Amino acid sequence: MTSKPDSAAPDAAPGSGPIVSVRDLERTYRGGVHALRGVSLDVPRGGRFGIVGESGSGKSTLVRLLAALDRPTAGTVTFEGQRIDHRRESDLGFLRRRLQIVFQDPMGSLDPRMRVRDIISEPLGRTRDRDERVAELLDAVGLPSDAGAQYPHRFSGGQRQRISIARALAPRPEVLIADEAVSALDVLVRKQILDLLTRLVDEYALTLVFVSHDLGVVRKMCDEVAVMRRGEVVEHGPVDEVYDAPRHDYTRELIAAAPTLHGALRAPAGSATSEASAAGAESSEPEPPPEG
Ligand code: ADP
Ligand code: MG
Repeated sequence: MTSKPDSAAPDAAPGSGPIVSVRDLERTYRGGVHALRGVSLDVPRGGRFGIVGESGSGKSTLVRLLAALDRPTAGTVTFEGQRIDHRRESDLGFLRRRLQIVFQDPMGSLDPRMRVRDIISEPLGRTRDRDERVAELLDAVGLPSDAGAQYPHRFSGGQRQRISIARALAPRPEVLIADEAVSALDVLVRKQILDLLTRLVDEYALTLVFVSHDLGVVRKMCDEVAVMRRGEVVEHGPVDEVYDAPRHDYTRELIAAAPTLHGALRAPAGSATSEASAAGAESSEPEPPPEG
């Protein structure tokens, strides 16, 4: 599909430039909360783009606008140069396939009355190779093939996140947004899911937008990062530059206060559990030692 490049993102065209761009984005909620204040950024195609900031800094608000799940108070959102910020849902079908989100709370986003195979294949609609796709997707996320017949409550938090990821991958998206997708998980399970995401992003050449309050996981996962505070991007750039030579005081404070930087993210020696053993377990993943 071709489209006229939008004036807000003159460089965005299929095959080159940023895949998603926002310019001068504002979002004020009813009640007067000014959740975004003039946010502009470009997500490079094929990049692993981190958005980091404290709780309440506006990360999820920004994500909802990137995915056209909400409308900005002002400013523009473009996907490959096409404005998506004020479209009707009926005009967003292409985006719903090409951009997918995995949220923090797997139980909240998995219908408890649906079997896993139906959850995963729902975004596909009716297709002939549905069973085959479900089997492929279960395998891709490291779940056993009989998981499809089960209901989500049978699975642990990490496995439910695998189900959410399989569902997100079903329509073969180009952009995967993970909004605090591992934040509810225990340390070791978190590492397994991060490793899985890394592998899938490589394997399917996805553009990753990885959102977290946790600076350590963003450093591990991303090549570029935007730091948010109170609805603004205070700093952004390549992760190594931002983490090793932060230019903004707020970034320095965040780095100094981050427990997961400085090596703490690594699992203790001898405690590593393989993807395979976690995936093979019926409903429990190994309990990590208590945090702290
Ligand atoms: P983050 O994801 O970084 O924690 P959010 O985008 O969820 O931040 O929230 C940013 C600010 O907007 C917060 O002050 C939050 O309370 C407020 N907020 C978020 N969603 C709504 C909403 N639907 N209505 C009113 N205020 C909201
Ligand atoms: Mg959030």
